[in-house]
Amino acid sequence: PDLISRFSQSKLNRPNQGQQRSNHLERRDALLETRKALPIWPHAGSIRSALRKNNVLVLTGETGSGKSTQVPQFLLTEPWCKKCIAITQPRRVAAISLARRVAEEMGSLMGNQSPAAKVGYSVRFDNASGPNTKVKFLTEGMLLQEMLRDEGLLQYSAIVVDEVHERSVNVDLILGFLRNLLADMARRGKKRADPLRVVIMSATADVEGLVHFFNDGVKESGESEVDGLEQSWSSISPDNEAGKVSRKNSGSSSVVSTCFVEGRQYPVKTIYLPDPTQDWVESALKVIFQIHLKQPLSEDKPGDILCFLTGQDTIEALERLVNDYAQLMDKEIPKLIALPLFAALPQHAQQRIFNRAPSRTRKVILATNIAETSVTVPGVRYVIDCGKSKIKQFRNRLGLESLLVKPISKSAAIQRKGRAGREAEGHCYRLYTEDGYRSMDDRTIPEILRCDLSSAFLTMKARGVDNVLDFPFLDQPPREAMEKALLQLLHLRALTETGSISETGLKIAKFPLTPTLGRVLIEAADPERDCLLDVIDIISALSVENIFLNLVTEEGKEKAESARRELFRREGDHMTLLITVQRYAEESSDRRVWCGRRFVSHRAMQHVMDIRKQLRQQCIQLSLLSLSQSSPPASDSHTQSILQCLLRGFISNTARLMPDGSYKTLIGNQTVAIHPSSVLFGKKVEAIVFNEFVFTSKAWARGVSAVQLDWVQTAVEEIM
Ligand code: ADP
Repeated sequence: PDLISRFSQSKLNRPNQGQQRSNHLERRDALLETRKALPIWPHAGSIRSALRKNNVLVLTGETGSGKSTQVPQFLLTEPWCKKCIAITQPRRVAAISLARRVAEEMGSLMGNQSPAAKVGYSVRFDNASGPNTKVKFLTEGMLLQEMLRDEGLLQYSAIVVDEVHERSVNVDLILGFLRNLLADMARRGKKRADPLRVVIMSATADVEGLVHFFNDGVKESGESEVDGLEQSWSSISPDNEAGKVSRKNSGSSSVVSTCFVEGRQYPVKTIYLPDPTQDWVESALKVIFQIHLKQPLSEDKPGDILCFLTGQDTIEALERLVNDYAQLMDKEIPKLIALPLFAALPQHAQQRIFNRAPSRTRKVILATNIAETSVTVPGVRYVIDCGKSKIKQFRNRLGLESLLVKPISKSAAIQRKGRAGREAEGHCYRLYTEDGYRSMDDRTIPEILRCDLSSAFLTMKARGVDNVLDFPFLDQPPREAMEKALLQLLHLRALTETGSISETGLKIAKFPLTPTLGRVLIEAADPERDCLLDVIDIISALSVENIFLNLVTEEGKEKAESARRELFRREGDHMTLLITVQRYAEESSDRRVWCGRRFVSHRAMQHVMDIRKQLRQQCIQLSLLSLSQSSPPASDSHTQSILQCLLRGFISNTARLMPDGSYKTLIGNQTVAIHPSSVLFGKKVEAIVFNEFVFTSKAWARGVSAVQLDWVQTAVEEIM
């Protein structure tokens, strides 16, 4: 614990403001040298001039070349840049850490620390931007939320869409909206006094599609002039000569420029497993210690390990194993410290991965595919790649979305390997065979082709896209999935019979929640249900990964279960979460101790409290809640109300007990079993409602509550 706290703490002395300011400036000047050494630095001039000529720039460059941190700083001083620059990120971890880094590089405070601060970020449930923020990192979801209020993005001079190669659903929506926006400006000759600049950034050089996408959009608008630029619709192909800004066909220009920044990549040796393995947590553990015991480590030669795993559960399991074994090592051997990195990790824990390891210590970062391109960790020489990642997959037939562990693509494997060769030669240990690599798909299928589209469609409808089937998608999703999503929205009453957005739909779209959870929340605000405060507590707890610590050993599990028994509710996991949140909130002495005794994650609970506060505020703003409102006293009928609200959102996730003791979903007739993590595990009740489907050895229902079959039937009838 001593090592960990030393490692995670920045200096504790608090200098006065003047001193703080001069420290900031000193740090800024020191960082300037590092910035100048980044591969992107020499291209600042061509990037600036590209955007003086054209409104759209497609910029590709290897991860770590400096795109996310430097491009906004290059543009900040441009004469056209009078307002704020937005840089979107697929993940909150990246948005926050990049904002911190850029604030440091600019010698600025963060947007929430001072009104004068120039750098800020905005992620779900956490806004750290201020009135003078000029560089704002935000998650893709937050930009989409802002577009509800500011359709034309008038508060921005430029939108930088980062990590486009990840092809999240939200990035595809943003690209479609931006294309419409630019086309609209061209069509109506509607020139903003300061035309919006768009920079599309990607770590892979697959730019042709993007260039055509934007060119065609404006071309279709039928105008030949975009913001004063002569257009001739010559086709553009990216010029792959490093650093060269290309506008093909001399004498004519297009809406889109392209620029390619060559990264620095040292050779990386690939080592495959001779035979395939199922237990890659164990394989990873072996390789970690093999590297640690055999490969030298010195002050001037860092040798950190980056290990790619599938999710929080495997990461936490391996973290414990590494720390346990590390304790057993001889004193002469350098120390080894495991640091987790996943999307749900709280902010202060994220920053630890960027800190240099103390002397004679090797760090091993256990990460999800977040570290593939989103976050660059310095000091890494060894990569261990399990070859899998957790992806969302929508099953059209069942109308269900589930998280599945699937093999990654070759392009993801190449990215992962590349992380080992950023600063020096490196090694990549693939926990699969060479044949396994050959059988991988070339590219990762964009999320929009395999996910539940209801959230995306609600977003689009709320922003005035009437015919979602006509929206400009970079890749058109399958028709069946689109129809399913529209049907789902209809079931949630977010759409009217004619397919336009309903009052309820508009309200749901204002919340940073899935349509399903949004629907539950709106239902709870109905005076007849009168359980909004409690439902907010439950939704807040569902919005973090897991508030109960996951213990691996049998002994640990038993201990945790008996310690938590007072929190368990026979109605199931939702009421258990509610009680946990309420008890924690009421705890007046030491909340940390309270959590420790019950194996509840204090980190997660703090996050829950943040979300709860914000959801309450949003409900007050939308007049769904009044300041003085309090929860009715606990009673059976109140619990019934809460569960019935859940049913209105999760009607597709309901199942009934079969005579043979199994559960079958009411819609889709799929057999499911109650997940071992549920308080209802092993229990038989007439019907259940659950949050999510998990497919591992079989189909599990996770986050389960017991309900009466006739309530489910009433809810199903309502939508039929
Ligand atoms: P790209 O967007 O091309 O992947 P970045 O701009 O994210 O590149 O990173 C440029 C450099 O800045 C990298 O060497 C990275 O290690 C460093 N860096 C980025 N964020 C942080 C941070 N929060 N702390 C320390 N270094 C960082």
